[in-house]
Amino acid sequence: MPFTVSAYAARSATEPLAPYQVERRDVGELDVRIDIKFSGICHSDIHTARSEWGASNYPVVVGHEIAGVVAEVGSGVTKFAVGDRVGVGCMVDSCRECESCRAGNEQYCSKGNTGTYNSIDAEGKVTQGGYAQAIVVTEDFVLRIPDSLELDVAAPLLCAGITSYSPLRHWNAGPGKKVAVIGLGGLGHMAVQLAHAMGAEVTVLSQSLKKQEDGLKLGATHYYATSDPETFQQLGSTFDLIVNTVSAKLDMGAYLALLKVDGTLVNVGAPDEPLELNAFALITGRRSWAGSNIGGIAETQEMLDFCAEHRLGSEIEVIPAGKINEAYERVLASDVRYRFVIDTSTL
Ligand SMILES: [Zn+2]
Ligand SMILES: [Zn+2]
Repeated sequence: MPFTVSAYAARSATEPLAPYQVERRDVGELDVRIDIKFSGICHSDIHTARSEWGASNYPVVVGHEIAGVVAEVGSGVTKFAVGDRVGVGCMVDSCRECESCRAGNEQYCSKGNTGTYNSIDAEGKVTQGGYAQAIVVTEDFVLRIPDSLELDVAAPLLCAGITSYSPLRHWNAGPGKKVAVIGLGGLGHMAVQLAHAMGAEVTVLSQSLKKQEDGLKLGATHYYATSDPETFQQLGSTFDLIVNTVSAKLDMGAYLALLKVDGTLVNVGAPDEPLELNAFALITGRRSWAGSNIGGIAETQEMLDFCAEHRLGSEIEVIPAGKINEAYERVLASDVRYRFVIDTSTL
């Protein structure tokens, strides 16, 4: 039988989020019912709650950084048992047949993956996300959270963690490589830790030196203010890889000039307005400008295991449900170090 659980939902683009009873589907043969313990707040949640990326289906329960415990499994489930510590990220399904899905890149499914919220699932219903006390997800899209990772610290890894990890792996961040991270926010603070743990030499490029101490503590060797023009003169042709976590318009040519020959700048942040580029910035150093979107399910598991092995996680501030709207304003003001996580027992 379908059931309802306590949640927080946006009822329109302009109203604050408020308590809501969300319906979950019956636990099917291959489904896992998860009692959600913690749910991270991602900037995408705010965009969706406010219809900033197109009209959302209201009421919408957002949240795709979900950590909890398995409460029930379907008769055909083989990977999980009641009591297991698990997570769910940005996807809850995909076609599983296209070239991308077969390669383990479900995030690039040619038919479009099913987002954890505000997406249409196989039954034709709108998916509802993690600001809730439970969720039902097919087992293939459920991740195992290693015992050594606390659930609250693990939650943001399911989006911010994998979004940073995937490009670092794809472009071979590791010993002997110089990696720069633009922006030290929710994504950037994970990218710094991960690149450092992979063995790369990490530089933070931040607007100011306000968070320098944090950046060095997280594993950066160098920290520069991009508001200082000297930075760009000093760092020309320095990096093998630059990960741009900033969702604002930047002078891409200035940043591309910091890449060595054959270097790559990869965008994981997505500004609302188009970014401009003079092709000479690429041509003069055979440089590449790329993008990357979260990671596949197998790679997300690899990231969680990597974080457990290297004892790293997100820096978090746990909040009760009543503070979600205030937290949104603080995210927009960059007033968070570095991720808000909702304690879902307060929903
Ligand atoms: Zn996210
Ligand atoms: Zn597919």
